[in-house]
Amino acid sequence: MKVLVTGGAGFIGSHYVRALVRKGGVSVTVLDKLTYAGNLANLSEVWGSIRFIRGDVCDAELAARLSADHDQIVHFAAESHVDRSIVDATSFVMTNVVGTQTLLDAALAGRVGTFVHISTDEVYGSIDSGSWSETEPVSPNSPYAASKAASDLLALAYHTTHGLDVRITRCSNTFGPHQYPEKIIPLFVIKLLMGEPVPLYGDGGNVRDWLHVDDHVRAIELVREAGRAGQIYNVGAGCEQTNRELVTRLLEACGATWGMVKPVADRPGHDRRYSLDCTKIRRELGFAPREDFATRLRETVEWYRANPWWWRRFHPESATVAPSRDVGIGTPVAQDHHP
Ligand code: NAD
Repeated sequence: MKVLVTGGAGFIGSHYVRALVRKGGVSVTVLDKLTYAGNLANLSEVWGSIRFIRGDVCDAELAARLSADHDQIVHFAAESHVDRSIVDATSFVMTNVVGTQTLLDAALAGRVGTFVHISTDEVYGSIDSGSWSETEPVSPNSPYAASKAASDLLALAYHTTHGLDVRITRCSNTFGPHQYPEKIIPLFVIKLLMGEPVPLYGDGGNVRDWLHVDDHVRAIELVREAGRAGQIYNVGAGCEQTNRELVTRLLEACGATWGMVKPVADRPGHDRRYSLDCTKIRRELGFAPREDFATRLRETVEWYRANPWWWRRFHPESATVAPSRDVGIGTPVAQDHHP
């Protein structure tokens, strides 16, 4: 079984690749453009066991060549940060929409067996009470969420129109080691470890569900192995909390006080609450989150504390960080090139 993983040098993708390699029985190729968010160091543990290709999911010729040679695709590659999409949505439309459509076409032509499309709870919009099931229509509010919703709809259309075996996961906020320090948990932890103040949007009352990356990866793997074609699966932890509650835990774990928190103007169009009904994946695939939030959050903080080599080269405020390696586009990176 040959599996192509796009975006495998990013946060969740690299955890997934490590899990797949550990499990064995599959040959893994990673396709990643190595944008500011892609980092070959995330793959160092499995470098000798995978094939890595630096390339863009919008590159139709490359996508066709790789699809023809793989049985399955797990598609993580995306522009993933809401704040960046508010500043400029162009790359979000290119990678998330055009890139997904390019890959779907390639999968179809290359007779790929299964296409797992990794999406997000943000496509549903904001919900004051209750929870979304998979039948809820998409109603995205940020350009990021709109681009992900568009890619979900395209993926579903390729199933309906062409019979492609597409499976979609929609997951809540994910946390763990190796997350690029622009998302709230690594950003706050690193700033606090450096003794810098942290910016909290609005009144901090926005509610998010937090899932550890190991649980997210396990759910994706269940969907790849046993999910049904044309289906959407919500994936959540059932661990909703306000940003203020999250920040309280982060301050505690970093030995800091509320004096380090600087309220800033709210993010435009900031969704108030996300909440997923995850009955379907539990009933169909037996998925239940295993990781304890408080324990895994403390471990995550300890990982950032113990691995400054990983994050020191990104200043958390920096919007553009060069990829760690200058490797050629569209060609496999030499396997003796250890990140
Ligand atoms: P990330 O930003 O850490 O990584 C994205 C990866 O995609 C990077 O390695 C980057 O180099 C690569 N990439 C970007 N554009 C590319 C292109 N045009 N061609 C090839 N590679 C490209 O993202 P993440 O947080 O790991 O998220 C992965 C996926 O999971 C995304 O699709 C995201 O929408 C989804 N998701 C994320 C979360 C979360 O909390 N992080 C929650 C739910 C869903």
